[in-house]
Amino acid sequence: MKVLIAEDDNLSRKLIELAVRRAGHEPIIARDGAEALELYLQHRPDVVLSDWLMPGMSGLELCRRIRQEQGDSYTYFMFLTSLSDREHLLHGIEAGADDYLRKPLDEVELRARLIAAHRITSLHQQLKELNDQLFQQARIDSLTGTYNRLRLQEDLASMDNRAARYGHTYALALFDIDHFKRYNDTYGHGAGDRTLCTVARTILSCCRASDSVYRYGGEEFLVLLPEQRCTTAVKVADRVRASVQGLGIPHEGRPDAPKVVTVSAGVADLDGARDRSAQTVLQLADEALYRAKHAGRNTVVGC
Ligand code: GH3
Ligand code: MG
Ligand code: MG
Ligand code: MG
Repeated sequence: MKVLIAEDDNLSRKLIELAVRRAGHEPIIARDGAEALELYLQHRPDVVLSDWLMPGMSGLELCRRIRQEQGDSYTYFMFLTSLSDREHLLHGIEAGADDYLRKPLDEVELRARLIAAHRITSLHQQLKELNDQLFQQARIDSLTGTYNRLRLQEDLASMDNRAARYGHTYALALFDIDHFKRYNDTYGHGAGDRTLCTVARTILSCCRASDSVYRYGGEEFLVLLPEQRCTTAVKVADRVRASVQGLGIPHEGRPDAPKVVTVSAGVADLDGARDRSAQTVLQLADEALYRAKHAGRNTVVGC
C-alpha cells in the first residue's frame, strides 16, 4: 500500500518511515499537514498515518480535509500521536479517523494495524469495482448489448447541456424493424430474438466510435450522432438500412417485398427542433419514421 506519513519531528519521521518500509509498504513523506494534503491529492495513498500536533495544519484538520477530498475511493486514516488521553482518541475518531495509535511507536503494533488497514481498503476497492460494474450493467440492454433507455436519458440530458452551453449539436436516427410481429409469428420468438441481436450488431458496425446505439423499444433502435446534422445522419441511416437488407435474413411472412428482414428509419437533428430539446428531436425522428413506414418501409426519411 502507499502510506502517506505526516510528521513534523525529524527523528520520529525517520523511524516511522523505516517501520512502514519494513512492513512492506511504500512510504510518502510529509513534514507538516499542508504538505501532507498536497501529497495526498497528488498520490492518492491508501493509508494516511498522521501526527496530531504539527505547525500550521494539524493532523485533525488534515483528517477532515482528506474526508472531504477522498471522492469515491476510501482512504484509511490513522493517528500516531503523543496525545494519549481518551478525549483526543474519541475526538480523532469522530473527526473521521479509522484508528488511533499512541507514541512512542511500537513497530509490531503498527504492522498489525496496517494489516487491518489493508483488509479494509481492499474491501472498499472491491466494493467500488462491483459498483462500477453494476453501474455499467444497469445501462446495457441484456439481449442486444446496446445501451438501454436509462443510458439514453442520461446521454440526451448531457447532450442538451452541452448544446445549451457550448452550441454543440447532434442528430438522432430512429430505426424500427419492418413487419417484425409477422416475423415472430412465422419463425418464432427465439428466432426473433436472434434477429434483433443481428440487427443491433449491424447498426453498431455502421456507426462511428463516437456514435451511440440504444435499444429504444422492443424492435426499435436509436442512434445518437454527436456533431452531425440531418443530411449526414440520413446517409448513415441509409447505410444501416442497406446493410440490414444485405444480410438477406429470410422473412417470408411479410406481405410486401423484399422477402427479407428490413428496417425503416426516421432522422432529425437539434437544429430542426424549435425549442432545441431532445424531447422534440425524438418526436421529429418518430414522425419521420412514421412517414418512412407509410412510404412503403425499407426506407429512410429525414426532416
Ligand atoms: P411495422 O413494420 O409497422 O413496424 O410492423 P411491426 O410488426 O414491426 O410493428 P409492431 O409495433 O406492431 O410490432 C412490433 C413487434 O416486435 C411486436 C413484438 O412481437 C416484437 N418484439 C418486440 N420486442 C421483442 C423482443 O424482445 N423479442 C422478439 N422476438 N420480438 C419482439
Ligand atoms: Mg508533532
Ligand atoms: Mg415498433
Ligand atoms: Mg416494427
